[in-house]
Amino acid sequence: MTNPRILVLGTGGTIAGSAVSATSAAYQPGGLSLEAMLGNLAGLELAAELIPQEVAQIGSQDIGWPQWQALHAACAGALADPAITGVIITHGTDTAEETAFLLDLTLPAGKPIVLVGAMRPADAVGADGMRNFANAARVVSDPAAAGRGVMLVMGDGVLAARDARKAATSSIDAFKSFPRGAIARVTPARLDWFGPPHRVGEKARFAWPEALPRVAILAAGAGMDEQPVKALLGIGCKGIVLAGMGQGNAPACVIAALAEAAAGVPVVRSSRVDEGIVDRNVEVDDDGLGLIAARALGPAKARVLLMVLIANGITDTGQMQAAFDAG
Ligand code: GLU
Repeated sequence: MTNPRILVLGTGGTIAGSAVSATSAAYQPGGLSLEAMLGNLAGLELAAELIPQEVAQIGSQDIGWPQWQALHAACAGALADPAITGVIITHGTDTAEETAFLLDLTLPAGKPIVLVGAMRPADAVGADGMRNFANAARVVSDPAAAGRGVMLVMGDGVLAARDARKAATSSIDAFKSFPRGAIARVTPARLDWFGPPHRVGEKARFAWPEALPRVAILAAGAGMDEQPVKALLGIGCKGIVLAGMGQGNAPACVIAALAEAAAGVPVVRSSRVDEGIVDRNVEVDDDGLGLIAARALGPAKARVLLMVLIANGITDTGQMQAAFDAG
């Protein structure tokens, strides 16, 4: 039997990070080339053929439209190429959930596409990148990985893109899966799926857009006023995501300004709380004010979905709410 052929798209991040010394806190994300990083994997003798393609060498806080376009095109090519088993994207963890969700929304759920990162740079003591990569290769090589959409492999867990969320700044176990739990547990020696593939045969939910609109996240804080809402409209935002308190709340003057804004641009209420669903019409009259509830999506992923909806010309509030309900 021939080994699986895996396209490896490198973008940088801590998994390709190099530190000043093995014990220092300071390091440069994306300092290592993809070639050098894969060279470090040679000793692992992975039963897979890795085909490297460097997309970027950056910290993922700087990732955006040019890299997303390149990743989407490369993944679409790999999905269409019968010689490729699946894709691994090495990625910084800061925005991994955004890239994963964007690709998940805009690619068919055929072959596995797995984002993988690390919390410790490649040359730090106790580095987690090689283990995470070996785990990702095991996931992509498994025939049962197909039909699950885009996934994130970190800390021996496999998370679905729609549920993955970075919830800690520096611990090895930085990612949480919400509201559904991890879909598998993986180690270099073993892979256990917790259920059957949930997206078999699904096409892309949305078309890949020609550009993404300017959508801002507005963080709510006690005692704030409505001026930031006006400022966002003033700089031409095409949509606003409120990272609200609790169930997507904000002071009355802010909610009133958002309702006014919603007459012109879509406004989504999400929560700054780490876990929890924002439902419609709990403390805020979404029906009356024309607002959308983010449901299970946190602010970062709510912004990604809102950008994709606007870019696809979907602006009807009911249709947008249905997309958020689907998560
Ligand atoms: N801020 C960098 C990034 O997201 C490093 C963090 C990481 O990869 O864990 O790429």
